[in-house]
Amino acid sequence: MSQPAANCPNCGALVRFRWSGAIQTTCEYCRSILVRRDVNLEKVGEVADLPHEVSPIQIGTEGTYRNKAFQVVGRILYEFEEGGWNEWHIVFNDGASGWLSDAQLEYVISFLSQAPGPLPAAADIHRARQFNWNGVEYDVTSVTNAHYVGVAGELPFEYWDKRDVTFADLRTADARFGTIDYSDAPPLLFLGEAVDFDALHLKNLRELETETPTSKTAVSGLQCPSCGGPLTLNAAGHSLSVVCPQCHAILDAKDPNLQVLEKFEAKQQIKPLIPLGMRGKLHGAEYEVIGFQVRQTDTDDVPDSWAEYLLYNRFKGFRYLTEYNGHWNDVRTVPVSPKIIRMGVKPGAIVMGRKYTGFDDDLATTTYVLGEFPWRVHVGEKNRVRDFIAVPQILSGEISENEEVWSLGEYMTGGQVWQAFSLPGQPPPATGIYLNQPAPFGGQVSSMWRVFLNLLSGIILLAILFYVFTGQESVFQKRYGFTPHSKAEASFVTDVFEVKGHPSNVEISINTDLQNAWAYFNLALINEATGQGYDFGREVSYYTGRDSDGAWSEGGRKDSVTIPAVEPGRYYLRVEPEMGQDGRSMVYTLDIKRSVPSASFFLIAVVLLALPPILATWRGAKFEVRRWSQSRYASGHS
Ligand SMILES: [Zn+2]
Ligand SMILES: [Zn+2]
Repeated sequence: MSQPAANCPNCGALVRFRWSGAIQTTCEYCRSILVRRDVNLEKVGEVADLPHEVSPIQIGTEGTYRNKAFQVVGRILYEFEEGGWNEWHIVFNDGASGWLSDAQLEYVISFLSQAPGPLPAAADIHRARQFNWNGVEYDVTSVTNAHYVGVAGELPFEYWDKRDVTFADLRTADARFGTIDYSDAPPLLFLGEAVDFDALHLKNLRELETETPTSKTAVSGLQCPSCGGPLTLNAAGHSLSVVCPQCHAILDAKDPNLQVLEKFEAKQQIKPLIPLGMRGKLHGAEYEVIGFQVRQTDTDDVPDSWAEYLLYNRFKGFRYLTEYNGHWNDVRTVPVSPKIIRMGVKPGAIVMGRKYTGFDDDLATTTYVLGEFPWRVHVGEKNRVRDFIAVPQILSGEISENEEVWSLGEYMTGGQVWQAFSLPGQPPPATGIYLNQPAPFGGQVSSMWRVFLNLLSGIILLAILFYVFTGQESVFQKRYGFTPHSKAEASFVTDVFEVKGHPSNVEISINTDLQNAWAYFNLALINEATGQGYDFGREVSYYTGRDSDGAWSEGGRKDSVTIPAVEPGRYYLRVEPEMGQDGRSMVYTLDIKRSVPSASFFLIAVVLLALPPILATWRGAKFEVRRWSQSRYASGHS
């Protein structure tokens, strides 16, 4: 594809267009701003000197968004009180045009959109105003009065003589993004979403080769105007404040003279657990600790303080590690405006479809600062902090008059932090329960119950099968006859039979044909190997007749006896029957059964299997009670 080209009207150089739709471009040789008029280019101005470059993006950077390749072809740079940002003009390979912004290295892609409803005038826009467009709730999270700094490259419109521009940023609970741009009348609406640096697969970035987390933004050789000590800025261009490590003066990092903003007298030196300048690996990227602050709340007049470590990577921006009594959280800001809901008596918040339960709502005061920060730090500064939890995550909102910044943290152990930063020694032990600390057995309790239910149904099936198929095992059965006063010896022994398996009950049943007679059986169950025996006797008698009340009967023809816990082995019975004197004989059967383990065996198994999930549930419930006892929304806590 041949690129359109034209000669610069100022210096005659050939100006090639990366995008055929460009209305404005800049000459790389003479830095003229050129605007297309029909077929010619007209010089309308000159590119201003741009401040220290801190964005990893440049004209010519390529990437992908939603599987579509794009290239950065132009740029508008803005500055405001809290820093600066670029609107990078990107064009996709199908010719579509959009914007990639990089404010504080948080990346957003947006497209010029038709406003779904009327847009308010700049004077009427304010933080917390809401718009409901096509079923999506957009909240105005900030209104910025920005200063136009300069342009470069190709733009889809003429844009060069601007001064101050008002922007209203809109956010949703699911990281969609909007901005109302008041640089023109009527205002323009851009809609899009926050995107992760890695997801853009950016190529041709500014000097990627010699990467450390802060290279290309680190500026050393600076001097503290207050004490003359040496200073380094690791995130120059992003940092707004830097604290002199020698005299603790808070300096304006944007000012070439590092003007002193505030001097704070630390009552005591606080030594960060992770020293400033340490580098560690989080989520596959290297970060450097560049700032440290201590903050505290005064709930019930008891100061409760925690530490925040500011981490920086010059591509991925800022993250935080927070530490309280040995409990850590890995925190990053999230470009959302949570949907605040009620969850019973507690407030709740929805972010990216996940529900978080309200835990605290306090004023936090900054009491100690070290290093540098991409905002203006001020010792004594108070902000409202709202915490919501969905263990192991914590959603926190920092709410000031002009701004609402939300962040998501994930619980980390000291050991994980020590490993990520290769710190020597052991981390301080965690004490107490932290608000988003995973409970013992964490999410395992329900899976433990699932395992138990599976095992229980297995046991029930096994028990059923056992009773249906094996209930009792017959080990011996034989019929005998007996005639009293016969010449033969009454006593005899049975054949040997085997009792197998574990010790179990042995049931011996005698089934006779007695009729109006009695019989007595002297019995002994004898172990063939040891000769040990169990002696016992059984009387069986059965009488029937008829009288004035009708037929009657007494006794029965059968009887049985159970011997508990008979060891397995080979046995025989010694039998000696006796009968009454009437001389009649009887026929009887001896039936020996080994009985199966009783139902209690199964019950014991069920109880034993239920113990771990019961204990886990109990410990988890106790843990939750302790967790929530610290919450502002704990019952009995006002
Ligand atoms: Zn030129
Ligand atoms: Zn100093």
